Amino acid sequence: MDNKGLYVQAIILLNLISITAFYLQFPLVGRLKHLPLFNQIDWSVAKHKTVGYWIGGIFFLHPFLIMAPKLLLSPSDGWLALRTTITAPELLTGLIAWVLLAVWVIFSALKNKLAMRYEIWRFFHSLGFIVITILATIHITSVGSHGQLQQAFNTAFWVLCALSISGTIYNYAIKPAKLSQSPFEVTALKKVSTTDWQLTITPKNNTDFHFEAGQFVWINTHPSAYHLDYHPFSIASSVNELPNLSFIIRELGDYTQQLDTLSVGQTVYVDGPFGQMNLRQTHTQKAITLIAGGAGIGPMLSLLRQLAANQDPRPIRLIYGNTRFNQISMQNEIKQLEATMPNFKQILVCNEHVPDENVHQGVISQALIHQTLFQEDLGINNKDWGIYLCGPQGMIDCVLEDLLQLNIAKNHIHFEQLSF
Ligand SMILES: Cc1cc2nc3c(=O)[nH]c(=O)nc-3n(C[C@H](O)[C@H](O)[C@H](O)COP(=O)(O)OP(=O)(O)OC[C@H]3O[C@@H](n4cnc5c(N)ncnc54)[C@H](O)[C@@H]3O)c2cc1C
Repeated sequence: MDNKGLYVQAIILLNLISITAFYLQFPLVGRLKHLPLFNQIDWSVAKHKTVGYWIGGIFFLHPFLIMAPKLLLSPSDGWLALRTTITAPELLTGLIAWVLLAVWVIFSALKNKLAMRYEIWRFFHSLGFIVITILATIHITSVGSHGQLQQAFNTAFWVLCALSISGTIYNYAIKPAKLSQSPFEVTALKKVSTTDWQLTITPKNNTDFHFEAGQFVWINTHPSAYHLDYHPFSIASSVNELPNLSFIIRELGDYTQQLDTLSVGQTVYVDGPFGQMNLRQTHTQKAITLIAGGAGIGPMLSLLRQLAANQDPRPIRLIYGNTRFNQISMQNEIKQLEATMPNFKQILVCNEHVPDENVHQGVISQALIHQTLFQEDLGINNKDWGIYLCGPQGMIDCVLEDLLQLNIAKNHIHFEQLSF
């Protein structure tokens, strides 16, 4: 094979890999908890984002890569050929898919900067990519170098396209029917700090619900299970409190600021559990530190309550940080656990100045973590600590870096970020 032939084969291979990765994008965020590759939702959402940018870049370059040899040999002829090719009628679907993809990748990257409700963004994000997937598949099967030649390839692409999109359709159209068979109801709702609510729910039909301390669920509090407004919240209760599930929810945006409109007895729908954080991850560690930022106290409380229920004798520390003093929640229970658990202490941190010497002013710093882990004479070295971490993305990034600098092994740190 000559160099040109090799180049063409390399481009075809790159396109085949990219389109296969593109088809995997839907199931990666499909909340498909029974499918092994796709049920590790934190991992799969992170991959969905990274792979999305790579695919966007590769497909943006797609027409230029095909024309690169011509463009390099003679730029003027190459540009003419490129213009003639992309304006050919049979390439219209590919061209529309290409333009839409560029726009939708930018729309995805701007998710947190657009003045748009998350649910509206997610609806258009999914709809746009469904359209792009169908257009791209028409393009591959009509003008792609394998598709136009071999019927088997065409069939394979359409099967992959259908399987890919069916994950989203399952989530929006089929799964709600299943969730409405096992509804929960609100059994308690109370304010536990100036910004945090404790919500407790219980299955309505004695349905079995299993989870591990540290996991989260998606909750829909609208009257219909088909409503798109499902929000992820970490379970704050322990397994021993089942059938009740409780959550600590911080008021943040349009949905969480309306939690006071929920009423006891109201039906809610629960999709889950999801998430990899659990106590099995640290069962061989000699001591445990839980680090919570704001609403991150939810899953940390679940782990703590479970450790208390298990009568775990290991040293356990909780570093709990908030911006304001009046955002600190659950203190009666945590102080009670300090008094009753064999070796548990809480370290409170607050950004604002508080006239209380037991509260550290500032952020959860490396110095404070070092002090918590190593200053007491516990005989625990950095290899023996298991660390759990939950909070907003900025806090997770900083604390992770601090922990690594303190020589805590990466596989001894387990975290849940409060946003995808
Ligand atoms: C795994 C996980 C566990 C979480 N656990 C808790 C918890 O225990 N307690 C708590 O208070 N918060 C938790 N959160 C955050 C919580 O989901 C958001 O604060 C809440 O959904 C915000 O909704 P909003 O409409 O009030 O705010 P908005 O201002 O609309 O949203 C703020 C941000 O929250 C995210 N978000 C909003 N709606 C959704 C949605 N439907 N699905 C996914 N992300 C969304 C988006 O990143 C958005 O930018 C968790 C988040 C994740 C990913």
